[in-house]
Amino acid sequence: MNRIYADLHIHSRYARACSPQLTVENIDLWCRIKGLGLVATGDFTHPKWFAELKEKLEPHGEGLYRLKSTYRRYEPRFTPVAETDVHFICGTEVACIYRHNDQTRRVHHCIFAPNLETVDKINKALNTRGGKLAADGRPILGISSKDLLKLILEIDSRCVLVPAHIWTPWFAIFGSKSGYNSIQECFEDLTPHIFAVETGLSSDPPMNWRISSLDGITLTSHSDAHSLPNLGREADIFEGSELSYNGIMTAIKNAGQQNEIVDEKVNLNKLRFIGTIEFFPDEGRYHFDGHRECKISLSPEQSSKLKNICPKCGRELTIGVLNRVNELSDRAKNIKPATSLPYTSLIELDKLLAQAYGVSGRHTKKITNDYWQLVSIGRGELPLLMDMPLEKLGQYASERTIEAIRRLRLGQVAEAIPGYDGVYGTIHLFNSEERIKSKQAVLF
Ligand SMILES: [Zn+2]
Ligand SMILES: [Zn+2]
Repeated sequence: MNRIYADLHIHSRYARACSPQLTVENIDLWCRIKGLGLVATGDFTHPKWFAELKEKLEPHGEGLYRLKSTYRRYEPRFTPVAETDVHFICGTEVACIYRHNDQTRRVHHCIFAPNLETVDKINKALNTRGGKLAADGRPILGISSKDLLKLILEIDSRCVLVPAHIWTPWFAIFGSKSGYNSIQECFEDLTPHIFAVETGLSSDPPMNWRISSLDGITLTSHSDAHSLPNLGREADIFEGSELSYNGIMTAIKNAGQQNEIVDEKVNLNKLRFIGTIEFFPDEGRYHFDGHRECKISLSPEQSSKLKNICPKCGRELTIGVLNRVNELSDRAKNIKPATSLPYTSLIELDKLLAQAYGVSGRHTKKITNDYWQLVSIGRGELPLLMDMPLEKLGQYASERTIEAIRRLRLGQVAEAIPGYDGVYGTIHLFNSEERIKSKQAVLF
């Protein structure tokens, strides 16, 4: 069965706080290293990036593109037998900032277009509406979420809007600071056009299952990468071989609605959205409540006892994703909606190797060597972590590395330190006793 890992929300070097390494050539290369077969172009509203996309990409299937072979780059340490072919889809992120129902709203959305010609039309329309598209790869638009959706659908009904990282406190549709309590409240009569949301790093599918209004909406996961190594840290998983823009959007839509009845008549080549790769939500930067500067991290229960006031500085706490999910949830934990899909929580391979060796840095010589050997054997990082039989790894990886991958696949976390107010959390696959032992082994 042909499995495709997809990352549909990334950025270019033209977006704020993004690595200058994010070029089209490098994104293509790093998708192969990560094992991603499908990636969004990112930042298609940016004039310079858009010009580069038009120059360096060529059509590859209906509504999809690939890097022209003259631009293809190689990494000498990445030597798989066969490499993933990377498909690009026209996808970007925008920030809508506007007043709605007497409140200032700041909401990020991913938008997708069926081809570069449509992107051109979208960019022209946004320009006319006063969007400063050259200022940032993720531009600020002074139009409402609903008007944005209307605008792209009027240009081409195949365009799709997916609310981005929906729980992030500051910039999301359900954000505690400037969001809404429901999709309906935001998009009103255009709500039926929203068939997918992006769950973001700080929430995973079970947290989203607690919101009954999300039943029927497909939960997608993408990296929102600001640097090359972050590509694919969250991803969608598709199966099938008929890859096209319409096929991808139809697969995403169908996944959230009615799970197709599998019988012998089903065309197995037809693309299906079968699940997601997730961060452990604790590891996300806004899982718990707290204050970064005050080094205060609190569970929703602790914050509620403190009436959401920081015990150190007396100001209001930044309310994290878990708290906000609790607030909007209308369903108990551990209840799976009928259309829920499987998911796997991963940590990145270099972090896993650091834990296996009991070191804090991710860039030691040993980790770097192992990283390149393992991604080459596994034909990419995601296929290695997800699919490679462990018994095949014996000759290439240490026992502790294999044990770490085994635990990761089973979701066996020894300790989770939740992220808060912009600080990433930590996931330990080994318990403190095992960690002490491995440190001693390194020292002596
Ligand atoms: Zn965003
Ligand atoms: Zn504080």
